[in-house]
Amino acid sequence: MQLAAGMARLGTETAFDVLARATRLREAGRDIINLGIGQPDFPTPPNIVEAAVKALRDGHHGYTPANGIRPLREAVAEDMWKRRGVDVDPDRIVIVPGGKVTMFMAIAMFGEPGAEILYPDPGFPIYRSLIEWTGATPVPIALHENKGYAFSAEEVLAQITPRTRLLIVNSPANPTGGVVPKAELDRLVAGLARHPQVAVLSDEIYARIVYDGVPHASLLAYRELEDRLILLDGWSKTYAMTGWRLGWGVWPKSLVDHAVRLAVNVHSCVNAATQWAGIEALKGPQDAVEAMVRAFSERRRVIVEELNRIPGFRCPMPGGAFYAFPNIRDTGFSARELQDRLLEEAGVAVIAGTSFGIFGEGYLRFSYAASIDAIREACARIRTWIEQRR
Ligand code: PLP
Repeated sequence: MQLAAGMARLGTETAFDVLARATRLREAGRDIINLGIGQPDFPTPPNIVEAAVKALRDGHHGYTPANGIRPLREAVAEDMWKRRGVDVDPDRIVIVPGGKVTMFMAIAMFGEPGAEILYPDPGFPIYRSLIEWTGATPVPIALHENKGYAFSAEEVLAQITPRTRLLIVNSPANPTGGVVPKAELDRLVAGLARHPQVAVLSDEIYARIVYDGVPHASLLAYRELEDRLILLDGWSKTYAMTGWRLGWGVWPKSLVDHAVRLAVNVHSCVNAATQWAGIEALKGPQDAVEAMVRAFSERRRVIVEELNRIPGFRCPMPGGAFYAFPNIRDTGFSARELQDRLLEEAGVAVIAGTSFGIFGEGYLRFSYAASIDAIREACARIRTWIEQRR
């Protein structure tokens, strides 16, 4: 068999490899604490589960329109108004099986040999993987620890060339928990006026998981980008629905038909019952979301304090998502060696920063979607392990 060349260029999410290794060690009887996994450790709120069950009982068993059922797109539009203050036509919304699918569509639409796509590094590994698959040139945007893992708008703008087709922004971010300050977004958007050929994919899947009362700054709110901004959001993280596979994209009018055509070619539509559950999630009570964010906020405080007690670790306070991203350079270990040895020898699963790009060397990603006891125990194990080696 001869595979298409692009297949050899596809990357992956190494978080899944670490998860598989942690599971194997557990099955072999080892006590492993998993701070590697990027999903809420809460169940989906019961009212949402009930809405899906009801939809199945009510006979919602068939295909739906490829862009999603109308009441769900209206619920998303209402949510965009309520939370981002933006009036969005429901016909610009495309419902997809998970946030990742909007990412795939946007990168597939703009990527081809000769094109350049800018993406955050360290960043969600699928950005680079898909860019390379299309044959486009991936251009990493460095994120800076001393800027709370935000980018410098000036640096981003300086990397734009006539070949740049798409710029990917992710705030709050995986893997750093970084939040790009509104002033930096203002500077970026002002500068983009000089580059009207560049489309923007704003991955805001963690928009609802922000701390300290700082409101989420959305690129959707910049009207001057309306005809070239693709917003990626979804239910996975906000409503603890990662396994349901449900997300939405807000597309510029001129790109909606292309997104829908991709949907028709790949998945036809999202399963109907899940779409009805999505309506209940957006329009039903939000107290479960608020309770989850409060729990994450407390765990964030604990994990940052504990990580900063480990010799050689330095961890800034993340502004969003549920990841801490300590600098581990002073331990003398590379990110990959520390990841592997902490798993094998200390029984703690975390992810090497290099899994998220070259600028991730010298860092580890900790997911604090775990109990406070597990977080404290994991950090104690790491501290002991490091102290024995100094
Ligand atoms: N974008 C970022 C930054 C993520 O971290 C993730 C999941 O980890 C996704 C998108 C994908 O979300 P979904 O599970 O809804 O496809």
